[in-house]
Amino acid sequence: MTMREPAHELDNPTFRLAVAQFDQAAEAMNLDPNLRERLKLPERSLIVSLPTRMDDGTVKVFTGYRVQHDSARGPSKGGIRYHLDVSLGEVAALAMWMTWKCALAGLPYGGAKGGVRVAPERLSRGELQRLTRRYAAEIFPLIGPDKDVPAPDVGTNAQVMAWIMDTYSQQVGFAVPGVVTGKPLSIGGSLGREEATGRGVVYVTLEAMKHLGLEITKATVAVQGFGNVGSNTARIMAEAGARVIAVSDHSVGLYNAKGLEIPELLRRYHTNGHSLRDTKMGDWISNEELLELDCTVLVPAALSEQITEKNASKVRCRLLVEGANGPTTLEADQILADKGVFIIPDILANSGGVIVSYFEWVQDAQRFFWKEADIRDRLHEIITAAFHRTLEFSKAQQATMRMAALMSGIDKVAQAHLARGLYP
Ligand code: GLU
Repeated sequence: MTMREPAHELDNPTFRLAVAQFDQAAEAMNLDPNLRERLKLPERSLIVSLPTRMDDGTVKVFTGYRVQHDSARGPSKGGIRYHLDVSLGEVAALAMWMTWKCALAGLPYGGAKGGVRVAPERLSRGELQRLTRRYAAEIFPLIGPDKDVPAPDVGTNAQVMAWIMDTYSQQVGFAVPGVVTGKPLSIGGSLGREEATGRGVVYVTLEAMKHLGLEITKATVAVQGFGNVGSNTARIMAEAGARVIAVSDHSVGLYNAKGLEIPELLRRYHTNGHSLRDTKMGDWISNEELLELDCTVLVPAALSEQITEKNASKVRCRLLVEGANGPTTLEADQILADKGVFIIPDILANSGGVIVSYFEWVQDAQRFFWKEADIRDRLHEIITAAFHRTLEFSKAQQATMRMAALMSGIDKVAQAHLARGLYP
């Protein structure tokens, strides 16, 4: 069998990680070699230039991407990231993970991802809006409720989704709420979408703790990242009875062995310019130190490749729950497995976001909206079922949770490709 290296233009550490994981799973499941070649590379990748009028009158050109990894099982689905590290390879890796994530949860979607190389916190609201509308106009030919449905990711939020929905709707001449998910409620967003990823992280953590015989009220939790996923995870973990001993954002970490008072921390964070630096509610620690804390549950909920061969041997949690996409490198995975750390892999742990995105899309299509209690119940049902299927499969195959999750997701995608055949 010929093994092709990733195409040069996609080659970066995150894409290499996604492909290496895929190769490992494909090998273990003896995947059809023709499919293996096909699933390694994205179906379609678009690079766009985004000339944007800045407030001072100058025009700055940003680079944006939208990558559709696979659409065999339905419209492709995945977030849009605004970050200075965004590249074609990173977006392609994140798109591939979306494919397996949607398949694993049983959602009728393929995988996609988008991004713009920009530091959104340095733009004014007007600049952000003009950049977003130009991006939406440039990816317009690719997206649509039946084609490809964007959502928030790192650096974007409900407001950014609203501008994309509006730009798309202006082009077609009528309101199309279902073109994006994670929108404001006023234009067809869903109750419970904003906190969904964090809530899903907590639901699977509770299942894993039952499996390992651990009690939530005796558990200590450390969360890296205080964006949408990290802050909601910390809040809901505390509500569930855990002691959250550490949190961090991109600049600083906070540690308090007695447990941080999360509602008060959130209040100060939101009133103090979205920084943990001014909350003064514990001892300062660095992001690296947070990952090495003695705790029951560690939740990396920031960016990829945080736990590597350099620090994996110093990780001291019992349970690693990947709120972020791709936070653990392949080498680190092996070290953690040898140490007996139980890992809930990203495509399972953080699937609550896209699961509630699916609910939002269904509600938009039906023009019929659900109660928050229904959203929570159905999220709980889908994500805990996915957890138990993965756990059973990992026992049956004697595979890690990550390999079991990847193999189940990849198998569903492979089945769809085999049923549809190769065009032409
Ligand atoms: N960006 C989120 C993720 O990585 C959500 C994607 C979605 O809802 O489509 O899973």
